[in-house]
Amino acid sequence: MTDLFERTKALFEIPEGVIYLDGNSLGPLARAAKERLAREVAENWGGQLIRAWNTAGWIDLPARIGNRIGALIGAPEGSVIAADSTSVNLFKALTAALSLTGERKVILSDSGNFPSDLYIAEGVIRTLDKGHRLKIVAPEEVEAAIDETVAVLMLTEVDYATGRLHDMKALTAKAKAAGVVTIWDLAHSAGALPVDLSGAGADFAIGCGYKYLNGGPGAPAFIYVRPELQDKIRPSLSGWLGHEAPFLFDLDYRPGPSIDRMRAGTPPILSMTALDAGLSAWDGVDIHAVRERSIALCDLFIKEVEARCPDLVLASPRDGSRRGSQVSFRHPQGYAVMQALIANNVIGDFRAPDIIRFGFTPLYIGFEETVAAAEVLEKVIKEKLWDCPEFLKKSKVT
Ligand SMILES: *Cc1c(COP(=O)(O)O)cnc(C)c1O
Repeated sequence: MTDLFERTKALFEIPEGVIYLDGNSLGPLARAAKERLAREVAENWGGQLIRAWNTAGWIDLPARIGNRIGALIGAPEGSVIAADSTSVNLFKALTAALSLTGERKVILSDSGNFPSDLYIAEGVIRTLDKGHRLKIVAPEEVEAAIDETVAVLMLTEVDYATGRLHDMKALTAKAKAAGVVTIWDLAHSAGALPVDLSGAGADFAIGCGYKYLNGGPGAPAFIYVRPELQDKIRPSLSGWLGHEAPFLFDLDYRPGPSIDRMRAGTPPILSMTALDAGLSAWDGVDIHAVRERSIALCDLFIKEVEARCPDLVLASPRDGSRRGSQVSFRHPQGYAVMQALIANNVIGDFRAPDIIRFGFTPLYIGFEETVAAAEVLEKVIKEKLWDCPEFLKKSKVT
C-alpha cells in the first residue's frame, strides 16, 4: 500500500516545501494534465482544428469522463456525464426531480448544506412558481423530517465546513419508502470516500471536478441520473447537445437517449482534457484503500493537534467513519491563523465564521506531512504568529 501512495504522489506537481491540505477545495496539478493540455492545444486544437471533434473524439469526452467518475461513485456505465458546474447541475437535477413528484411541494435540505445548493433551490422555486418550499432542518433532524409531504430530499453527503458525513444509504432508503426523490451532492465525496449510488438507490447525484478529482480550477462537474429514470425526465436546460440528433438542426427539441439528455451546450474541451488527465491518477487505485488511509491521516492529525494546541476546538466528528476526508477546527481568529499557516507553507483554508479546514488526500499526502503540518500549527498558535496586521486583512477568496 505504501508503494501505491508513493507512486500516486509522484503523479502530482506540488511546490517544494509546501504541505498541501486543500485538495478538498482545489486539487493540485497532475503532471499528466500539464502534458495532455500542451498536446491537446498543439496537436488537436492547433493541428486538427474543427476536425478534432471527430478525430480526437472531443464530442464523446463528457461521456468518457462520466464513466471514469462513475467508477468511483458506484454508478454504472452510461449513468454519469461530465458537464457544466455543480451549481448548474443541481439546477438540472432539481428541476428534473420536481417534474417527477406530482403535488408534493417540499424540498427538504439541511443547514449544513453548501449555500450555493440552497440558493439554487430558491432560484428553482422562484422560476417554477408552483408553490414549492425549501425546508431546512438541522443535519441530525433530516431523518425524522422525511415523510410523505416531501417531494425531494436534497443533501450534500459530506458537510463542506465540518466534514460530517450523512448516512446516504439509510436516508435514501427512508426517502424511497416515503416516495421521496433523492438528490445527493457528492462535491466532498467523489474521490474522497467510497460512494455506492446504485447500492443506495439514489435518484440523482451531482459533484465537483476540481476538488478530490483534481480536474483543475473551475473543472467541469458531473451529474448522475439513475438509469431507470433517465428516459422519464425532460431536461429544463434542453440544449442542442442534449438533443436526440443535434446535427439534424430540427426546430423542436427531442431529448437524447439516456444520460446524454443532461448535456446542454458545447463542452469546454481544454478543461475536460485537464479533468480527464487528472482522473488518470485513479487508474489502479482502490478507493477503499484511499478511505482507510484518509481516516488514519485524519485521526493522526486530530491527535497531534489536540496534544499541541489545546485552544483549538475540533469541529469535525471524532469518529472517522462519520467524517469525510477533512479535519476542521474552530479558533476565534481562524482566518488569521490560516493566513499565518499558509505563510509557513501549510496550505488549508478558512470557512466563516471561525473554521480552519484541512483536507487529507492520500494520493499525495502522507503521515510525515501530517505531523509536520501539526508542528507548524503549534508554532503559529503558541508564538501567536497569526497576530499580525497582514494576516487579519481578508482577501476576496478565503
Ligand atoms: C464546492 C461545492 C459546490 C461548488 O459549486 P460550483 O458550481 O462548482 O461553484 C457546490 N456544492 C457543494 C456542496 C460544494 O462543496
